[in-house]
Amino acid sequence: MSFVNPSLASVPVKSTRHVLVVEDEQHLAIGIKFNLEAEGYRVTVAGDGPTALKLIEQGSEPVDLVILDLMLPGMSGYTVCETLREAGHVLPVLILSARTLAEDRTRGFDVGADQYLEKPFDLDELIARVRNLLARHAHTPWIGLDQKVGDSFEFAAGRVKVNFNTFKVAVGDEPCRLTHMEMKLLRYFAENEGSVVSRSQLLDNVWGLSNSPTTRTVDNFVMRLRKYFELDPAEPRHFLSVRGAGYQFVAEPDGEAR
Ligand code: CA
Repeated sequence: MSFVNPSLASVPVKSTRHVLVVEDEQHLAIGIKFNLEAEGYRVTVAGDGPTALKLIEQGSEPVDLVILDLMLPGMSGYTVCETLREAGHVLPVLILSARTLAEDRTRGFDVGADQYLEKPFDLDELIARVRNLLARHAHTPWIGLDQKVGDSFEFAAGRVKVNFNTFKVAVGDEPCRLTHMEMKLLRYFAENEGSVVSRSQLLDNVWGLSNSPTTRTVDNFVMRLRKYFELDPAEPRHFLSVRGAGYQFVAEPDGEAR
């Protein structure tokens, strides 16, 4: 009789998660990258805040977690985190900083960080925290968005053409890029085309369980989609407001010139 369960040895590794390390000390960034890659993660390093934000908003592959230094050249880590949250991103953020004051930690949490680890840190602890954060966020709808759809998941409405796989969007003949959150919201509307969806439904399904967004966040994002899609955003024909109920997305309104 054996106590070894042979099936455990061959449990497949879950699809690779993408970690963004925002750190200006290159040797440290490389060390973290090396160790996370050894754990099976895909890792990208950004040396400053604007580069990190650009990767998250416009990068070719979605970022699943951010490890964020606070003292960065130019834009501070606090500002990076705050900017992410204001844009509606709910991905986990772990601050990794040499700042050890309670007020620094508090400020970190105030701007929306999920965890705070002080430097110098224990590598095993960092890896355990990354693993736990990703496991909790694995249940958030839309994480792994790009893996759920085929290679050529394309969608057209009005003058806009969208490829949910490449995140490429064309308005008329002009290419443009939506942010990750705009894309998630659009995806949800597209999948529920014709149905009236409430703001809380959108918050639950698009933003997940994060407590930061409000129904106003939803309205702001719908306005952003209208700017892309509607010939006249003030007279929407695709993203309709349904009084007291929410929004209804109509891909092809009657009489719309295609
Ligand atoms: Ca630094």
